[in-house]
Amino acid sequence: MRSYVFPGDIEKRISAIGSQPIPYMRTDEFSRINKDSERILLKLIHCKNGRAILYTGSGTGAMSATVENYVSTKKKALVIDGGSFGHRWYEMCRYYGIPVFNYLVPFAQDIDYNDLEKTLSREKPDVFLCQHHETSTGQLFNLEKISAICRRHKISLVVDAISSFLAEELDMDALEIDICIVSSQKGLNIPPGLSVVFLRKNLNGHPWGRKGYYWDFEDNLRNLSRGQTPFSPATTLFLQLHARLEQLEAEGGEVKNIARVHHRAGIFRRLCREYGWEIPAEVPSFAITGFQTKEKTPGKVFRSLIEKHQTFIMPGDRPGFYRVSHMGLQTEEDLRELAGRIHEFETE
Ligand SMILES: *Cc1c(COP(=O)(O)O)cnc(C)c1O
Repeated sequence: MRSYVFPGDIEKRISAIGSQPIPYMRTDEFSRINKDSERILLKLIHCKNGRAILYTGSGTGAMSATVENYVSTKKKALVIDGGSFGHRWYEMCRYYGIPVFNYLVPFAQDIDYNDLEKTLSREKPDVFLCQHHETSTGQLFNLEKISAICRRHKISLVVDAISSFLAEELDMDALEIDICIVSSQKGLNIPPGLSVVFLRKNLNGHPWGRKGYYWDFEDNLRNLSRGQTPFSPATTLFLQLHARLEQLEAEGGEVKNIARVHHRAGIFRRLCREYGWEIPAEVPSFAITGFQTKEKTPGKVFRSLIEKHQTFIMPGDRPGFYRVSHMGLQTEEDLRELAGRIHEFETE
């Protein structure tokens, strides 16, 4: 099997942890592992003296936690809705009855930052929610520009960096991002099931909203101070997370991993040009390549890759639009073979 979705193909050493006996988790040993994971995570995202809450739950759980505990303490939110993940922020705000302005961005386009600033002056939100990389289209938003605008208008910035963490440079402190969210199955390249909420140090002591029992920040932070979780953790995933983080730390942090992802994206994008596949994203993230094939029979490429080669790519919202992740293990040869097969099936 070959996987070009999330998490992609995982290193054997990491997947092997999943077949080991599961240790009891209410121990000093397990606490030390989690404290160490928190330390490395904070380093990788540049969030000095901040906190990283580890949740058993997918990325959307961490988004929900953020809305329940933080966004709910604000008067009005503004959401960048440039695809299905941006739209999720909007739906969550509505779900919890938080006044929200939905700033729509057309498919795969960048934000018009001047217009955005005008909208902020008019709408006066006090919290700004966006994605770093809108995974549904492949578009990367400019956090430097967003951060500067938020600073000028004194708006708290919350970023879903689920699919850009370890694929794009990201410095929470420098960008003054108050909350960042990541999850295990994207840049970290371990199985799905864990997510992380990063809180910048200035949020220390914030009166949290406490609108959801499972995701409660206070309860989770209190437990995490001793390396524990309020409820049963996905123990195996926590061990895989730590092993992966140690590996990243040993290779000097996030820089090498980001370079690897960039390199693979570069290779695949050259292949897209060779086959005449357009990449619609105005500013594509290196995390995935979203490309428009010339597929004749809708869904043919997707199904044939599975049926003939046990290979997974991600379909998109439009016919013939596919996404290939660059997060897992993949070589130049793998990508060449994949592109060749996609080409073969698109003409059928
Ligand atoms: C994958 C993803 C999510 C949702 O994560 P789940 O793990 O499926 O809950 C949210 N935001 C972005 C940008 C993503 O790429």
